[in-house]
Amino acid sequence: MLYVSRNGKVRINYLKREDSLLIAKGEVASSSKPNVFHKVEIVYSFEKKYLIRGSCDCEISSFYGICKHQLMLLYVSLRARKKISKTL
Ligand SMILES: [Zn+2]
Repeated sequence: MLYVSRNGKVRINYLKREDSLLIAKGEVASSSKPNVFHKVEIVYSFEKKYLIRGSCDCEISSFYGICKHQLMLLYVSLRARKKISKTL
């Protein structure tokens, strides 16, 4: 584990930068089920300033392709990346 958010709800297991892309993999706590974490992966483009790819094993994501877990991982990854590595 590379980083855990202060509230413990977001865990970053992998974070890499490739040119203008930020690739993150991690686990995000379910809001309805205690002690359940969803597996989440995202790819964010600094150039386009949006999430270009994302996946999560929750039910909402299987319907809509997007969910709050992906956004939570993105938010924490963007904020914490410099603490993890200066090159991110
Ligand atoms: Zn989700």
